[in-house]
Amino acid sequence: MKQMIEKQNTTTFEAWWNTQPKFRSKAELARAVGTNRVSVRHWISGVTFPRDEYCDKLFEITQLNCFSPSEREAAREEHERMIPAEVKAARSSTYRANAELFRRRALASWRKRRERQRRLVTRAELDELRRDPRKRKNVCRNCGEILQDVGPHLRPAHKLTVAEYKEKWGFLRSRNATRSESTQEKQSAAMKRIRHQPPKWTRSLLPAAQAASLRTNRRGTARLEERLKARGKRLAARPQHWKRLREGDVVTDARIAQMRLASKSVPEIGVAVGLSLAATFNRLRRMGFPPRARVFLHGEPVGWRQFHALCSDFGLAEGEAARRLRMTVGWLGREPKPKRKGESLSPALAKKVVRLRAELLADYRHKPATRDRGGRPKQLAPTERAELPAKYDALRADLKAFRRWLLENPTAPRGAAWTWLCERFRAGAMRTLQFWPQFFAWLQKDYRLDTFRRAAWVPRDVAIQFLAGDYGASENVITYILEHQQANPPES
Ligand SMILES: [Zn+2]
Repeated sequence: MKQMIEKQNTTTFEAWWNTQPKFRSKAELARAVGTNRVSVRHWISGVTFPRDEYCDKLFEITQLNCFSPSEREAAREEHERMIPAEVKAARSSTYRANAELFRRRALASWRKRRERQRRLVTRAELDELRRDPRKRKNVCRNCGEILQDVGPHLRPAHKLTVAEYKEKWGFLRSRNATRSESTQEKQSAAMKRIRHQPPKWTRSLLPAAQAASLRTNRRGTARLEERLKARGKRLAARPQHWKRLREGDVVTDARIAQMRLASKSVPEIGVAVGLSLAATFNRLRRMGFPPRARVFLHGEPVGWRQFHALCSDFGLAEGEAARRLRMTVGWLGREPKPKRKGESLSPALAKKVVRLRAELLADYRHKPATRDRGGRPKQLAPTERAELPAKYDALRADLKAFRRWLLENPTAPRGAAWTWLCERFRAGAMRTLQFWPQFFAWLQKDYRLDTFRRAAWVPRDVAIQFLAGDYGASENVITYILEHQQANPPES
């Protein structure tokens, strides 16, 4: 392998090695740099290029340009470029053959390096800092480590939330309480760069918010926004602060919302639209979407409720349902915690639930309605029949509001409807349409969009037509259930 690699950058290093008088063996140089003999041999022969920390030491010793902080990156790239493709392929196949081992090794050496790099204050300093939360906020009061920002260190190192940490050591609940000076400056510069002005409502609502903050003076309510939220005040979109893309467009709420409805995760959306994770997350949160990627069915995120409905509709024991979803019984054991009752399921699991429901429903529709007397098969499962009237009411109310807007804005350009919808989401309205991506797909595919735009339709009819498609039942059945709520529909 050594012979196959052209020695361009390292020739200077090799030349230096051959002419220098100071080190008598490679082992000696290795000791001075803090590595082993084999690594030094590989560097000299050009098989590998040293990492930054070794480049620092090598530059100190050799004064060679290829190790200097300014030129080492170029030298490393040149080295990478010179490696023949077959060598690269051979290396990656060795890696892949034993990927787990290599990953473990890399992680272990990363941990070792990190452990070496930890800087701690002395015991006396720590005692002093613990008495005064205003000083050196970037030093962890729990362990005395000097950090960039304390926040991200707390959970992995001490299993603490930031709020608990602040309370424990008497910090203010401000966001800056656990940040270093340099992060603080960076943040401030960023705000100045975009000429950030506090939104108008800050001034007008501040007195109210302050009064409210006395009442809602709980953990995690430090920010004005959260205090206002506690009073039921929701924030409107501020497109003037939205990130501008290279083409001059902004990343609209609509774009983010549509990706969320397609069950994309925050990182996926962030990468696709070019926003940071925090910005993506916060905009989704303000629109009232669930904090994580979800799958939506019949106008709500798929959660435990749908799992239980699956069991009761098709007479499955929970263990059997878990088995058919290829989940362990241990997973079921974790399930009934009250905290998780209203929680949604992960997209992967939710998709399995939706698929299993579709399979079971297909069987169910072929069975006679009663075991002894026969009868036509039913189109809808019991929970579907039970939930339908409430879903219809909510959907019809949203459609009414939608239609009103369409009538008031007959000349609205394409996309304006989505902008309006997202504004309504931010105000906590249109919650049914918000979680029903199938409705928008149906509009696109099965409904005449121009008819819809002209608002030449009746909310009741559109709701029934759509529900029939979404539940896979006939319009007659849907209408019958709505007219005879809870009664048994005629099956056609
Ligand atoms: Zn710590």
